[in-house]
Amino acid sequence: MIEALREEVALGCRILALEDQGDFVWGHVSARDPDGRGVWMKASTLGFEEIGPEQVILVSWDGEVLEGQGRRHAEYPIHTELMGARADVGSVVHTHAPWAVAFASTEQPLRPLSHEGTLFVPPGPARFTKTGDLILTAGLGRDLAAEVGDRNAAFMVHHGIVTCGSDVVTAVMTAVLLERACRTQIRALAGGGSKTWSSEEEALAKREHCYPPALLRQAWDYLARRVDVR
Ligand SMILES: [Zn+2]
Repeated sequence: MIEALREEVALGCRILALEDQGDFVWGHVSARDPDGRGVWMKASTLGFEEIGPEQVILVSWDGEVLEGQGRRHAEYPIHTELMGARADVGSVVHTHAPWAVAFASTEQPLRPLSHEGTLFVPPGPARFTKTGDLILTAGLGRDLAAEVGDRNAAFMVHHGIVTCGSDVVTAVMTAVLLERACRTQIRALAGGGSKTWSSEEEALAKREHCYPPALLRQAWDYLARRVDVR
């Protein structure tokens, strides 16, 4: 079971690389340890595309490496504090997603102008603005978790994004779709700005039709096949 979880975290990393969310060796994916010891997360000093199950390590709630070889990321409190605050969260993703970072700085609200946006709007991703610096302490991790609240994503303004879900597939696909939603809206802004987008009612219906767990899994499986043929 642990080996399958490590495989899944590693595959999530490689999918995020395929989706251009890597930033050299920064950004991470985690999954809650089923035995409650902490989180299984990507080891530091490696890029997303370099991660296999051996590079997924068990980090305790206090940041100690309990199992696996490799160093832990300094920003581990993003993962431990969000999972600590949310019993429903089994996986957390943090990346420096470039379109999302650019979009967050415009201070425009995300609009459901394509399918992707409907996963978030209404009400839209949270905006964490306390700092654009790294999340190096449990206190900042708790502040970020408080800002996320019960949502599936937050812009970490001047820094990146955080997404979460009940499992790795959901958290990773949420990060993929948030970045794509931001890219689409930036393109619309470049074309003069959106004049129209789905109503809240339509957006909620589309969320149910486009992104139930089974369809997120289909998209994940497709991206996993593309990782393999690259
Ligand atoms: Zn970061």
